[in-house]
Amino acid sequence: LQDQLIQAQKMESVGRLAGGVAHEFNNMLYVIIGNTEMAMEDIAPDDPLQDILAVIFSAARRSAAITRQLLAFARKQTIAPKVLDLNDTIENMLKMLRQLIGENIDLAWLPGANIRQVRMDPSQIDQILANLCINARDAITDIGKITIETGNMTFDSAYCEKHPGFAAGEFVLLAVSDNGSGMNKETMANLYEPFFTTKDVGKGTGLGLATVYGIVKQNKGFINVYSEPGQGTTFRIYLPQYLAETKSTEKKNSDKIDLNG
Ligand code: ADP
Repeated sequence: LQDQLIQAQKMESVGRLAGGVAHEFNNMLYVIIGNTEMAMEDIAPDDPLQDILAVIFSAARRSAAITRQLLAFARKQTIAPKVLDLNDTIENMLKMLRQLIGENIDLAWLPGANIRQVRMDPSQIDQILANLCINARDAITDIGKITIETGNMTFDSAYCEKHPGFAAGEFVLLAVSDNGSGMNKETMANLYEPFFTTKDVGKGTGLGLATVYGIVKQNKGFINVYSEPGQGTTFRIYLPQYLAETKSTEKKNSDKIDLNG
């Protein structure tokens, strides 16, 4: 299962990287194709340069076809947001998470009462929790405890003034805590960096938290971490509440990112 997860993370990031590069290349290739065409029209048909330009033209066209293919591959990883009760989604995952963390670690589940709805792809919740639980498991050297908690949270403007980066509003909290090794300052500073890992070769990709961060940001949420060396770590994720009243504008916005429609 963990191998699969590592593979999925690698594919995700390679896909995203390839998509980004392909997009840029496509733009530049159209500049090359367009200008080559113009040059071919400008010079005399029997000019020896025509042959050279024809080679540039067909190579650029072939490259554009390849980048288009790559873009199509990257776009396959689309998201399908749904209105969710986070508690139900997590409950469906508990068995898998228990397997992931093993028998020596106790998993505590503290669902908040009457939690607000969120709108996101349930597989993204899977990814967030699996990554956070694997990290928590790896930080626990002996017998330990991981706690998953949900709840409602409201940020008012006074809070946001004191905490830059937070936006006022109603959120749903998803927290994962462990009583493992905790983190030093250097690790804390690089946490969300893709490929940053302190784990042994083959054990970590350094893409787990980069993926989590990407998902949280994509859903207009926030992430916070509290960690004390020797004490443990808590990740808190805040996801914006889904409001039925804002459905029409919500739909329009989400159509832009959800290519499945
Ligand atoms: P990976 O798990 O592949 O190393 P991540 O991006 O998920 O990549 O994590 C990056 C690093 O952050 C880890 O290598 C580890 O040093 C640190 N880390 C993440 N979560 C925890 C945690 N709960 N306790 C201690 N350290 C952690």
